Parts: sequence; C-alpha cells; structure tokens
Amino acid sequence: MRTVFLNGQFMPESAATVSPLDRGFLFGDGVYEVIPAYGRRLFRLDEHLRRLGQSLDGVRIEHPWDEQRWSEVLHELVERNGEEDQSIYLQVTRGVAKRDHSFPPGVRPTVFAMTSPLVPVPGEIRANGVAAITLDDIRWEYCNLKTISLLPNVLLRQQAIDTGAAEAILIRNGEVTEGAASNVFVILDGTLVTPPHGPRLLPGITRDLVLEIARAAGIPCEERSVLPAELGAAGEIWLTSSTREILPVTRLNGAPVGDGQPGPLWTRMIALYQDYKRAYKANADRS
Ligand code: PMP
Repeated sequence: MRTVFLNGQFMPESAATVSPLDRGFLFGDGVYEVIPAYGRRLFRLDEHLRRLGQSLDGVRIEHPWDEQRWSEVLHELVERNGEEDQSIYLQVTRGVAKRDHSFPPGVRPTVFAMTSPLVPVPGEIRANGVAAITLDDIRWEYCNLKTISLLPNVLLRQQAIDTGAAEAILIRNGEVTEGAASNVFVILDGTLVTPPHGPRLLPGITRDLVLEIARAAGIPCEERSVLPAELGAAGEIWLTSSTREILPVTRLNGAPVGDGQPGPLWTRMIALYQDYKRAYKANADRS
C-alpha cells in the first residue's frame, strides 16, 4: 500500500478521502506539479516549486506553505514510499465549500501529494521513437499555468492515441505551441528550435533544462515561433516532459520525420541528459 499525503497528514492511499464538495472535483479549480525523484532526491525541485507558486498566483489560490515545508513533506513522502526513482504528483485546490462559482471566503486549500515508481521509457520507444499528429490547440489562454482543468488536453491526447500516435502536437493561430502533455523541439540545420515562454504553453522544466544542457555543450538553440511547415521540414522532432524526458518523434501525421529513426542530435542530447542526471545523483549522494 502506498503512502500519500493529504491536508497535513501521511496516510495509506486507501484512507485518503476528499469531500465531493471540493472545488477541484466540482470545478477543476486547482493546480498541480509532477516532479521526478532520482535516487530519492527531487530533481529540479526549486524550479518546480517556483512554477507551482506562479500557478497558484495565476489562479489566486493562497500558498498553503513555503518552499521549505514543501521540500520537507515531499522528501518524506518519497522516503516513506521507498523506491529509488519516483514520480511525485502534488495538487492544491481552492478547497471545500458550498458550490458557487465565486471564490468562497475563509476556505483552506486542499493539499494532496502521491508518488508512483518512475518507470523509464521502454527501450523500444527510445530505439524507434514515437508517432505524433498535429491538432488544433483548443485550450484556453493561460496555458502557462499548470491547472488541473485538463479536459482539452485529455481529449487531444486521446485523439492522438485513437490514430495510433503517442502525442498530439498543437497548433494555434498558425504557430506550434506544445504537445498535449509535453513541450516540442524541432531540429533545423543542427539548431534546436522551440517556441518561447508565454501564455500559450507551459514553461516546461525539462524544456528549460534541455536548453541549458544544449547551450553548455555548444549546441545552437533558438527560442522563437515555430511554423507548422517547419515540423514538416525538421530533421528531428522531440517531445520533452519530466517523466518521459526527451522522446524522439519519428512519424508525424503518418509521414517519417527525417529518415524515420531517432536522429543524431537526439542520441547526443539524451546522453548529455543522462550524464546530467547521473552527476546530480552523485552530488545528492555526497550531500
Ligand atoms: N506541456 C504540458 C501541457 C504538460 O502537461 C507538460 C508536463 N506534463 C509539459 C509541457 C512538460 O513540462 P515538464 O517538463 O515540466 O514536465
């Protein structure tokens, strides 16, 4: 039985219950984060907590705790569940109140966190890449906030799955934004190109780390608008997220990307990414 954290207490998952009047349940009124832990140390925790703060501010939910308390609770949750590598999910909703759209006065946010074992992306997928399709970005105007109102993302991802693809790459007003649950990179003439931060996409922690690692390795990077036609022209396309790291897209809308195999820059980048993780883990072991 896994241990979860709910409103100040650690408990078995089966004992964790939330009122049906919780605004997360009734309105999708809340925000969340997904944080990987390697060697039981939370990876890029400061960046995730900063983004959590921005999401809370963006939807005007009070911060339940400071970053020190988050760090203590999440590390204890990881210790209690035990696996070396885990994926931590945390959620804050506006709380429990009589159903009414307007903010309820004097209500405390509901805080929930759980973890699951972090399973690496299967070797077959790393070897062959995944398929993606392009779809219209039907989401709202605050995609930089990580809210639990994920119905459009759910529908878009399922539409991709229904066609045998793994992800939907979204297009809004003639520009690529991101995936249904990932950020997008296109490789054009050896340069990594990804859309800039802004309200149309989530500021992905993995996206930012890939840029940081690539720049440190002297790989040219550009943060600029990406046109749908550039997806067709790209030698490589990647998807990034905290749990799936860097995934090569080898088929787009049924046609091969480049030569239809994970490209040379992906092979280099995923090795650099694994090196970075190993160094992080080694540092964590010493501290
Ligand atoms: N965009 C969306 C819409 C996402 O849901 C996610 C993560 N699930 C990402 C991008 C990637 O963000 P991160 O690298 O922080 O996991």
